[in-house]
Amino acid sequence: MLRLRRVHKSYRLGPVSVDVLSGVSLTVREGELVSIMGPSGCGKSTLMNIAGLLDRPSSGACLLRGRDAAEMSDDERAEMRNAHIGFVFQSFHLLPRLTAARNAGLPLVYRGLSEAAIRKRAREALDRVGMADRHEHLPSQLSGGQQQRVAVARALVGEPAMVLADEPTGALDPATGDEIMTMFETLSAAQGVAVVVVTHSAEVAARSHRQTSMEQGVLVETGPEAASTGAAAAAAR
Ligand code: ADP
Ligand code: MG
Repeated sequence: MLRLRRVHKSYRLGPVSVDVLSGVSLTVREGELVSIMGPSGCGKSTLMNIAGLLDRPSSGACLLRGRDAAEMSDDERAEMRNAHIGFVFQSFHLLPRLTAARNAGLPLVYRGLSEAAIRKRAREALDRVGMADRHEHLPSQLSGGQQQRVAVARALVGEPAMVLADEPTGALDPATGDEIMTMFETLSAAQGVAVVVVTHSAEVAARSHRQTSMEQGVLVETGPEAASTGAAAAAAR
């Protein structure tokens, strides 16, 4: 589903260039649930943005379903993102003037579905994340945890092949965080969706098939690979 090969990323701040990613390689297969831990500022969001085709590496390759992102036009990248990737942003990125239902339905607007079909699927997605009674609320009328749930609904509404979730349970109480993780587990096990979760929570990481950690710009596998799913077993090579 996703292959990152020796990805480097450096930012130029005035005269100095800061290396954030120093050769990250990661392969995520269909149905795999992979967690990424690591201290704040170590480059987790930078990595997720590259994997989600929202940013480009300074060097190295990002392949999505075998296609090299470097060879796609901006339009193709947007299409790939919309068709295959559900992204949960760390800071939610909800549109402030749109209701929860309209925010959740946004990815479908670009797919030419009817207004009614979009609303139906947006409502179903919100119901699944426990937001059934908040369809018409604006983001400013929602708590942080509720906004996060809308962000998860928006990521799932288009039935993506891969979910990239950047600290998706960071603003949630443990019980709701648990429910979101259960949803991710179900998606990966039942529908073969690949899920990459950035988290600071050891409990969240423990529920993934593969645990990784970012250290000094490099990603290392830290946890045992669970052999409980076919995909994880295949990943064990
Ligand atoms: P994490 O998600 O692990 O907390 P980030 O990927 O957000 O870390 O950031 C990694 C490092 O890259 C930080 O030191 C941050 O200051 C720096 N950084 C992120 N985005 C930019 C940018 N657009 N310009 C310059 N530096 C950046
Ligand atoms: Mg981050």
